Amino acid sequence: MMGRILGLPLLRDHHSHVSLYAALEGCPTLLGLSKEEALRLLRALPGEGLSIVLGWYSAKLSFTPQELSSLPPVVILNNSLHGMLLSVRAKERLRPTDPELVERHAEVEWCERHLAEVLTLYSRLASPSVVKMAALTRRLEAAGVGAAEDMLILDERSLDVVGRDTLCWADPGIWQGMSAKGRCRVHGFKLFLDGALAMRTAALSEPYLQGGDGLLLYGDKALEEKLAGLVPHQKPVAIHAIGGRAISQALAVLEKLRLPCVRLEHAQFIDEAQARRAKDLGLVLCMQPNFSVESRDYADRLPESHLHSLNPFRMLIDTVGFQPGRDLLFGSDGMPHGAEAAWQWGLFPLHEGQRLSSEELSLGYGPSAPGTGAFQLSIDEGRRLVKTVSRRDRS
Ligand SMILES: [Zn+2]
Repeated sequence: MMGRILGLPLLRDHHSHVSLYAALEGCPTLLGLSKEEALRLLRALPGEGLSIVLGWYSAKLSFTPQELSSLPPVVILNNSLHGMLLSVRAKERLRPTDPELVERHAEVEWCERHLAEVLTLYSRLASPSVVKMAALTRRLEAAGVGAAEDMLILDERSLDVVGRDTLCWADPGIWQGMSAKGRCRVHGFKLFLDGALAMRTAALSEPYLQGGDGLLLYGDKALEEKLAGLVPHQKPVAIHAIGGRAISQALAVLEKLRLPCVRLEHAQFIDEAQARRAKDLGLVLCMQPNFSVESRDYADRLPESHLHSLNPFRMLIDTVGFQPGRDLLFGSDGMPHGAEAAWQWGLFPLHEGQRLSSEELSLGYGPSAPGTGAFQLSIDEGRRLVKTVSRRDRS
């Protein structure tokens, strides 16, 4: 039986990586495959060139050195994009142009510290194009998304690929290397303070179950200097901070500098005291309702307290007064894109503190254009299930 139908405007995804996803559009994925199926897919790849395969979860699939040496030249991307696996033949291909990356790509700390380089490699190998971007745009619209911000433009050509209407952010170093026209097109700067849960590099306030508490990419002083250097450019700054230690560091530095327009990206483990400081500083939080799924998917690594405190939307809205659409924005990070995952994990999360109403989701997510009813979800309260209504169901 179908649930009630909810009509939505096409959403505005405030955190995606459209140029990178456009480059990767059409690449095969290992998502949902068993080890056997994954190996079958990988072995069938062309023996020439260099293939890219997506959707590898290190916790779910691992490959032996013998298996990697038997594969065609392939780069297998971690689902978080923060790391990769290389087959032996891929290493041979890449060694002349990227010797350090070939040597060190398995070190998670190296990957986090060279993230722009790692992502640039993906984009270089897969190459974004206007045609691929059009295919991605159609796929996003079919998932209820009419516009998406590009949080990390890797080169000037990507600005052309994503088109004029896409709000673009760039690493300050990459921005420096752009032409005056390119620099103008970039809306703001993007900085990473910590890594990702997928790699256990997000800088948590308690150790992971396997030990280690993640990685802060800057010392306090270095971060302060970096941010102070951006002030004269008068552009907004988006700061990636997932774990409590990264959020603390951002707040401490921003309290000294008072930048005019700052977004905290992810802020997944923000606590109440930090939220109050962020509110006082006038920060905007840009968070991912779909990441509430990580209370389930990363139970293998997160300490118990973190499973409950991840994405604390009720505290942010009811206790501290953040307002969806004003200083609390939503995006997907493309993992996955679309209304279905956002509404599923917003309406029916594992933990009450993560719950969002449909209205709050709509406000935080855009819209990309006026008007409702452009997109439909079916919401089954009894089974706690959200599904996209396909075009055929609609008529
Ligand atoms: Zn991102």
